Amino acid sequence: MSDQNNGDGKKTLSIKGGAGTVKQSFSHGRTKSVVVETKRRKVAIPKPGSTAAKVANAQGAVAQNLSDAEFDRRKKALEAALANEADRAAKEQEEAQARERERERLRAEKDAEARAAEEAEAERLEAERKAEAEAAKAAKIAKTKKVAAEPDPVADAPLGDKPVRSRDKAPTDSAPAAKRTDRDEDKRNTRAKTEDNRRRSGKLTITQALGDQGNRQRSMAAMKRRQERDKRKMTGSGEREKVSRDVQVPDAITVQELANRMAERAAAVVKALMTNGIMATQNQSIDHETATLIVEEFGHRVVRVSDSQVEDIIVATPDDDEAAQVPRPPVVTIMGHVDHGKTSLLDAIRKTTVATGEAGGITQHIGAYQVETESGAVLTFLDTPGHAAFTSMRSRGAQVTDIVVLVVAADDSVMPQTIEAIQHAKAAKVPLIVAINKCDKPDADPNRVRTALLQHEIVVEKMSGDVQDVELSAKTGKGIDNLLEAIALQSELLELTANPARPAAGAVIEAKLDVGRGPVATVLVQYGTLRKGDIFVVGEQWGRVRALIDDQGDRVDEAGPSVPVEVLGLNGTPEAGDTLNVVPDEARAREIAEYRAGVSKDKRAAAGAATTLDQLLAQAKANENVIELPVLVKADVQGSAEAITQALEKIGNEEVRVRVLLSGVGAVTESDVTLASASNAPIIGFNVRANSQARESANQKGVEIRYYSIIYDLVDDIKLAASGMLTPEIKETFVGNAEIKEVFKITGAGKIAGCIVTDGYARRHAGVRLLRDNVVIHEGKLKTLKRFKDEVKEVPSGQECGMAFENYEDIRVGDVIEIFTTQEIERSLA
Ligand code: GDP
Repeated sequence: MSDQNNGDGKKTLSIKGGAGTVKQSFSHGRTKSVVVETKRRKVAIPKPGSTAAKVANAQGAVAQNLSDAEFDRRKKALEAALANEADRAAKEQEEAQARERERERLRAEKDAEARAAEEAEAERLEAERKAEAEAAKAAKIAKTKKVAAEPDPVADAPLGDKPVRSRDKAPTDSAPAAKRTDRDEDKRNTRAKTEDNRRRSGKLTITQALGDQGNRQRSMAAMKRRQERDKRKMTGSGEREKVSRDVQVPDAITVQELANRMAERAAAVVKALMTNGIMATQNQSIDHETATLIVEEFGHRVVRVSDSQVEDIIVATPDDDEAAQVPRPPVVTIMGHVDHGKTSLLDAIRKTTVATGEAGGITQHIGAYQVETESGAVLTFLDTPGHAAFTSMRSRGAQVTDIVVLVVAADDSVMPQTIEAIQHAKAAKVPLIVAINKCDKPDADPNRVRTALLQHEIVVEKMSGDVQDVELSAKTGKGIDNLLEAIALQSELLELTANPARPAAGAVIEAKLDVGRGPVATVLVQYGTLRKGDIFVVGEQWGRVRALIDDQGDRVDEAGPSVPVEVLGLNGTPEAGDTLNVVPDEARAREIAEYRAGVSKDKRAAAGAATTLDQLLAQAKANENVIELPVLVKADVQGSAEAITQALEKIGNEEVRVRVLLSGVGAVTESDVTLASASNAPIIGFNVRANSQARESANQKGVEIRYYSIIYDLVDDIKLAASGMLTPEIKETFVGNAEIKEVFKITGAGKIAGCIVTDGYARRHAGVRLLRDNVVIHEGKLKTLKRFKDEVKEVPSGQECGMAFENYEDIRVGDVIEIFTTQEIERSLA
């Protein structure tokens, strides 16, 4: 069916003047010129004689060799063919070329029906042609034998004429067929692309040439359907099956995770990113904006998740379900002055109870342990005595202690760390029980202890107060039972409860990297129940509980509220005070851990970790829950301290309220700093100063100490800070001046100013300004400071030196270089 007709000049078969010919190409390179002037001949056909004569003439000698019957048959066939195509032929000639081009374009779209029709027609014609061709062949052979030397185009004519004409019908018929096909195809698939058509047309031509259209037909259609399906999948434009999802997009998300959340293929997301000009692999993170773009491109809806919302899943209100609450053991911390017997007491308590259990049982130190009193109450002791653990936990937001046991040696009475412990307990609003230790000692004087405590607003029961006090000896074990019962009683008063049925949350008491077991953390479960297999996030780490080990060293499957357990299965070592939270899945755990790691990185990056009023305010703003601005006040006299406290407590607005954690008389001490650090509070010194240890400690811990001598200034500053208007003061200190006497140009080094220091010093690591006629024309740093050939740190007044600026060259003789230093300073007395 690959025949082509080309309108041509009149050449062949021009027996009758003005006959048009068509050049016809066959599949194997054969071409034939065909008379297209058929209509005219057809017009003559009704006159048998004329046609007969023409045919006879045209065929010449061939005719002579044909039998009459054969001749008649052929003539009839010819006439019939001519009659059939009479009308179309005229039109065809006019449109031949245009249609042919069109047909070529559209041929691909022939559907099975159209091709079947065409095929049937072609077969019919083929049969006809064959019959005629056979006859013609016979005639030609005969003719060739007779008139071999005659190079007459006419001689070939009959051969080409009839077959061609009969084949001519094929295109004649196939043209409308192609049109039909086109329409059908248009109806069926309006979105089909020209490109596709061409591709298909090529295939179909081959198919047709191979002659097995029937079978190929179906598979082509199937293939096309499959291709379209694939295409839809790839581009995600298949609207029929599209489910529009709400996709949570945090500030940063990996491509894979985004794909998961959209329930799309990661490859499709990568491709979509690529089309947007972003090259990202599946494991790379993209920002919120980009992710939003992609989500929308896939037809989903973006649900904004801000940074902190990542944590929302675990920032649930602790134990909100009243009905699910069950009593839990109290968590006890032992505090007191050094050598007053904290460790001894912890050991004694443990031994007492262990002895009642399996004798000689090897106990394991995991940072906390549980004991049972004779009355059956279970108590949890934090096995890490000292204030550091308590305060560091508190400063990290993990307040695990329910009751503080304040150990005071009966032979030593109240000491500085005893007071510190009282302050810590008060700041944390944790009830105290006083354990008067070393009562076995001859010089023990428990009443001295009680009286001394009065000064610190601790009124024990013996003094008609409400703070329980127990006389005991850690050494002999006497009175320890009483202490345990006192704790149990206090615990009852506190009505400590927790819901064991919710996802577990707890605090890390200790954490270490164990050689054999990997990262290990002792976690005190606070709410819920921690189970083997739970997925959790703890600080910046996450993991899946591989094993739980209790304080006896036994493996357990779960741990409920107030139970300390060692947790194995972390991906890294958390810090004491970190909170552990069980989360629904690993992706969430990882996300939160990554978010926290990012936040702490940012925090570290932010210069220093100073607890300034401004930072507290920023925190207050960021976190609406923070409405208190804690401060410590130290003053020279009691009256000032009280006045300041009253004035400060009156300050308040919607954002912040001042809470005086401690108001005392005397110098700012190290213990004040410790308390301030634990509570993230600044210290206000009124007409007092910090001692050297306190200053050092404040520097280390980043605690801000402010000094005042006028209450109004103090109050105004705190007010300013509370309103977020206090900015750190930058103080500039003049170091020296130098005048440029000469300017050298040194290849490679640029311009160097030869100067004489006129005032103070020239200093290498200081800020510099270039003054020209007292106008600052540049401010920056020095690239070099030289004395003769040597790089020096400082050049004193009166000496010459060479100076060059960093990234600045416009220096002239006569310019003045001003050297200065800057420092951020705390606001001082007015
Ligand atoms: P910590 O620094 O508070 O932990 O105190 P320790 O528990 O280390 O005790 C300090 C010293 O006091 C040790 O030598 C103990 O033996 C001793 N000690 C502790 N408790 C008692 C007690 O009840 N009676 C007597 N006589 N000595 C005690």
